Amino acid sequence: MAEMQIVAKALNDFGDDWHWVILHDAEPRGDRRFHASHVDTICGILLDEGGVVVTLHDTGAPDQPNCPRCLSGRMDPALRLALEEVLERAEAVPVTVRPR
Ligand SMILES: [Zn+2]
Repeated sequence: MAEMQIVAKALNDFGDDWHWVILHDAEPRGDRRFHASHVDTICGILLDEGGVVVTLHDTGAPDQPNCPRCLSGRMDPALRLALEEVLERAEAVPVTVRPR
């Protein structure tokens, strides 16, 4: 399904950085409105899940975010997925502490 990537602020806080915000499984729902299965940012902020309708406002967003983690985290989606899988597996491995 379609994935929409927009530059937006995660919070209604003008001090916040601009992030790459991803609308997952985005479907148009009229003028500037999209339904998404969940909404998060590249740097890992989960904004909404379980199906939401997002209205896009013209907030004068720049072409690029200024969130350093969004910029550095912008990689090939396949690579990001592979990396997440590795990280998940690493978390699932029990840690054994042996006395010296
Ligand atoms: Zn970010």
